Amino acid sequence: MRQIDGYTRTCGLIGNPVEHTMSPMIHNTLAEREGRNLAYMPFHVENGNVKAAIEGAYALNILGLNVTVPYKSEVMKYLAETDETAQRIGAVNTLVRTAAGYKGYNTDMPGLYRAMCSEGIRLKDEHVILLGAGGAARAVAFMCVLEGAKKVYILNRTLDKANQIASEVNRLLETDCVTAMEMRDYASLPRERKYLAIQATSVGLYPNVEDVVIQDKDFFEMLHTGFDLIYRPANTKFMSLVKEAGGQAFHGLKMLLYQGVIAYELWNDISVTEEDALIVYEKMKAAMGI
Ligand code: NDP
Repeated sequence: MRQIDGYTRTCGLIGNPVEHTMSPMIHNTLAEREGRNLAYMPFHVENGNVKAAIEGAYALNILGLNVTVPYKSEVMKYLAETDETAQRIGAVNTLVRTAAGYKGYNTDMPGLYRAMCSEGIRLKDEHVILLGAGGAARAVAFMCVLEGAKKVYILNRTLDKANQIASEVNRLLETDCVTAMEMRDYASLPRERKYLAIQATSVGLYPNVEDVVIQDKDFFEMLHTGFDLIYRPANTKFMSLVKEAGGQAFHGLKMLLYQGVIAYELWNDISVTEEDALIVYEKMKAAMGI
């Protein structure tokens, strides 16, 4: 990091907990690469203090904030403005300073899209099986439709939550291509094609690394690609099963990278080069021992 002085711009992360975050590595490395006088800090914010944190950050002239669990929805109440896509998703993970207050964006969704593009995965005309119906899955469902997926099947343990996302995405994006299903109903999907599966449940997350939301070999044989949003561990059980069945599998570390890169671009009104993004990625992988 450069010497901090009176010209240093500050950005940061609010969440609870924030101890294991890789965001400071992403932003401070980019600032260092660019020779930009910017410093990024994690801020632990207790429940009940989100409004005070946002107002305080604005008063302290903080340029931008990332927002992580559990405040991605709550924070929306305290913003001057919210980007249309973030509004639809119902979650904000990036705040950008404006004259009126902070404007909220969601960079998780374009972050995942950029990660997929960089791995050569295309969504246009794709048939997607989306596992999960939590906050991340909701963003993924919007992204799939906005990027031209032909069909999105949302499979979730709690069918009601999958139904809710499917009907909202269909209504807001004026489509009918999103369908909610019980987990086991994958068996009814047409077999003449292979599918892209996006794993957006928290099943398999460290330390429960042997868990997987669907076990059946039959399911994995339907896939050409499996993208797991989880990045701890870097090789999930879901990924192993995709590979065993002959598909290609990816973890979520690049999504994390690009959601940070896009936030950095919004704060500084620049485009980060792919070379710089990949230098940051190498550092993240080294920190994870992969
Ligand atoms: P949520 O808590 O909002 O959703 C959790 C999802 O997992 C729900 O669909 C839930 O199903 C399902 N689930 C949880 N436990 C079980 C179980 N035992 N059996 C079956 N299903 C289960 O989490 P998020 O949507 O915020 O995050 C999901 C994952 O995505 C996390 O692992 C997170 O780490 C990852 N993520 C990665 C990012 C990245 O940058 N790579 C960014 C954001 C998230 P139900 O509805 O039935 O409870």
